[in-house]
Amino acid sequence: MKYFRNWAIEALSQKIQAIRGMNDILPQQTPYWHKLEAILRQLMASYGYNEIRMPIVEKTQLFKRAVGEVTDIVEKEMYTFDDRNGDSLSLRPEGTASCVRAGIEHGLLYNQEQRLWYMGPMFRHERPQKGRYRQFHQLGVETFGIATADVDAELILMTARLWKALGINGGVRLELNSLGSNEARAEYRDALVAFLTPIKDQLDEDSQKRLCSNPLRILDSKNPNTQALVADAPKLADYLDAESKEHFARLCQILDANGIEYSINQKLVRGLDYYNRTVFEWITDKLGAQGTICAGGRYDGLTEQLGGHATTASGFAMGIERIVALLEEVAPIELTDADLFVVALGDAAEINAIQLAETIRSQLPSVRVRTNFGGGNFKKQFKRADKSGAVIGLVLGEQEVEQQQVGVKFLREHKEQLMVSQSELIETLKQILNLEK
Ligand code: ATP
Ligand code: MG
Repeated sequence: MKYFRNWAIEALSQKIQAIRGMNDILPQQTPYWHKLEAILRQLMASYGYNEIRMPIVEKTQLFKRAVGEVTDIVEKEMYTFDDRNGDSLSLRPEGTASCVRAGIEHGLLYNQEQRLWYMGPMFRHERPQKGRYRQFHQLGVETFGIATADVDAELILMTARLWKALGINGGVRLELNSLGSNEARAEYRDALVAFLTPIKDQLDEDSQKRLCSNPLRILDSKNPNTQALVADAPKLADYLDAESKEHFARLCQILDANGIEYSINQKLVRGLDYYNRTVFEWITDKLGAQGTICAGGRYDGLTEQLGGHATTASGFAMGIERIVALLEEVAPIELTDADLFVVALGDAAEINAIQLAETIRSQLPSVRVRTNFGGGNFKKQFKRADKSGAVIGLVLGEQEVEQQQVGVKFLREHKEQLMVSQSELIETLKQILNLEK
């Protein structure tokens, strides 16, 4: 009994920590997320894309069929569990499968064009490290019903515009490839297997396994020895069908005309099964090994594979954490809690301070106002004002209340304090804070 009690107390007092690889996003980081999210919403609107929101849990079968049974995601990375009624469910490891599922289910795809985006958490049981987490966030953009290369180009143009808007365009580069039609890819696959089979023993272990299941993935093996071996392998470009070649040439032409630089990487094949024709990745060297910040391509076969009518499609997914990490590095935000801090001494002044703060919030909603709570002398209150990062302190004592005035103190500049009538405060603040239109 005593032993049990000790154990119970110990267990109760132990700290419970977050799950490895699933991060809290703390107040110092949320301003980066807000900035990114606001710019993304604006960007999507300016290209005429509409938001769709899907559940974060789906039937496991959806991902098996869409992403592919022999991909890393489905083989090793999914959070899969049985629902109470025995159905196998999975936390979504990516959004495209759900988006296509929703599109088919609600009749959004058949004989229609759609330009869609979504943003939210994805889950993969990977080894956590910088830029690689078990819960992470993606912006996904998907287009349906447009077969031509112009829409692939548009997806790339909008991401290029984003890097500029965020001020990170200096640190990113674009890699492109075409996987051709499914038939061309199958033919190439056979040629690649024929080339690799005699030297199978020299490949790394993962690549040996992939030789049967997903041989194209061997091309982007990180193993130096394997890389050297595949250098002489047949080239995908030599197997492209004429239509895919033309499609790819048109994509390159549009990018050239818009001043988008890229390099063609013949070994870029992407990990998922569903891609055909265009594939692309945006990569940065500033984040170490986890350098891909955005990846996508065309997936014309997926809708049919998931039971819908054949619908051409093209899209990309962007890793939000990696972009936030880039932003923190190259475009730091100065973090403050308030623009304006109201200090007050005495009961009447405190009440007056709260009323004034409320008036400012009504009249100047873009100004962040904090009011001192919890009392303390002026010195203590100004310390709090300073800590908040506010540029202006409003000061109220007994005398100010009596005369319906308020002190305006400049907290970040050497400028004399003003005394203004409370009825003129809003006008004064507009001028000081440059809020006049
Ligand atoms: P990687 O090669 O880095 O494993 P991936 O090919 O598995 O990426 P996608 O499935 O194409 O990635 O996802 C698109 C983007 O989402 C990636 O380019 C990356 O920015 C981000 N991403 C993928 N997995 C993670 C993760 N575990 N943690 C954080 N971001 C991720
Ligand atoms: Mg991965």
